Amino acid sequence: MRKSSSESLAEAYPQVAATWLQERNGGLTPAKATPKMRVAVWWRCPAGHEWQEDIANRTSLQKWKNGDVAACRECVGYRVPYAYPECGHTAMITAEAAAKKKARCWKCYQQWWQDNEPRMKAELSAAAKAAAGRAAALLDAVELAADVPAPLATEWRWWAAKHLQGAIAAEEVMGKEGECDRVQAQVTAAAAGLPPSKEEAARAADGDGVLRLVDQAHWAKGWLHVLTGRDPVQAAEEDLADVAFLLEEVLADWSRDAAQAVAADRANGRPAPTTADITRSLTRAVLSLVDHSVFEPIVPYLRTYRELRLPVVPDGKGRYGRLDVVFCLSGGSDIVVEIDSAPNPASAQKLAFARDAGAWPLWVRFGSGAIEKIEGVMVLDIRDAVKAVREAGDVPAR
Ligand SMILES: [Zn+2]
Ligand SMILES: [Zn+2]
Repeated sequence: MRKSSSESLAEAYPQVAATWLQERNGGLTPAKATPKMRVAVWWRCPAGHEWQEDIANRTSLQKWKNGDVAACRECVGYRVPYAYPECGHTAMITAEAAAKKKARCWKCYQQWWQDNEPRMKAELSAAAKAAAGRAAALLDAVELAADVPAPLATEWRWWAAKHLQGAIAAEEVMGKEGECDRVQAQVTAAAAGLPPSKEEAARAADGDGVLRLVDQAHWAKGWLHVLTGRDPVQAAEEDLADVAFLLEEVLADWSRDAAQAVAADRANGRPAPTTADITRSLTRAVLSLVDHSVFEPIVPYLRTYRELRLPVVPDGKGRYGRLDVVFCLSGGSDIVVEIDSAPNPASAQKLAFARDAGAWPLWVRFGSGAIEKIEGVMVLDIRDAVKAVREAGDVPAR
């Protein structure tokens, strides 16, 4: 069922329009609004829950809605209201997140961190340096398997020392008791889980030789499970679906605009875009994801990376993998996007790694070749859309 773009919200989605909260929406009405408008308006469900949301989001059939496009997050139990005790803000968050009973909302936490970061980092760093001796003594007590090759052992000790020093600093500076015990237990478990044979250990040190990358410490948990044998930490699947949905919309807009541009170029005798042109243009579109109104409150705290190096050497490659686009939200999951015109095993490996690091991995696939399903990775198949872009305005020769 396809809705024509000229239809009003009232005509196309009467069940959504029925939840329109007119007294808070000024002069805009469901008869004047269109279903894909990027305008935040107020809604009220039959149970009386009121909230503000983009019209375009409201008319999209996200997974949590279970087929009812007009569903209310609160009624469905997908989101519950939660008041942060320390800052007093309230937000609709998943029941799982509410159970964590965080003191400050994400935004206030970010603000607090920005205000305090330089001081905290200086204090923590001084305390960590001063703890070198204590950390070394604790590490000496950890037994490594006798046949662990020296380079791996060195790397492991270096990594473990960093963690222990950090834990000691956290106890001293932040008053976080028990950090040291916790890290010591992790280090001991990691020692027990070190690769059993020299061959495997050498491969691990060589291939996943990851420990020099503290500057990307937020990825540490991505490989930690390899050493410890613990389950990887994965982000919630519904949240990944939400992010994928937003990106899907951005890419749909992109393909419409790109098709028009290509048709115009063709009419003016200019050549069709190459795969490299498409990749560049798609990358720009992906980067514009953060312009989506959903991200507005957190944009000041978002860091965007192109070609971010990660501590994994994909099979058959001689260097660390790089991710096409990464949006980092400290204290939350990172959004990781790979953009490929063909099946690329290295991308699959990188995305799986990002997944195990708790990120939201998204794979934008266009061009040719089959699409592999990877557990916990959301694939956005835009092969047809890009084909249409490339052929836009093309009049078949007679
Ligand atoms: Zn409701
Ligand atoms: Zn707050």
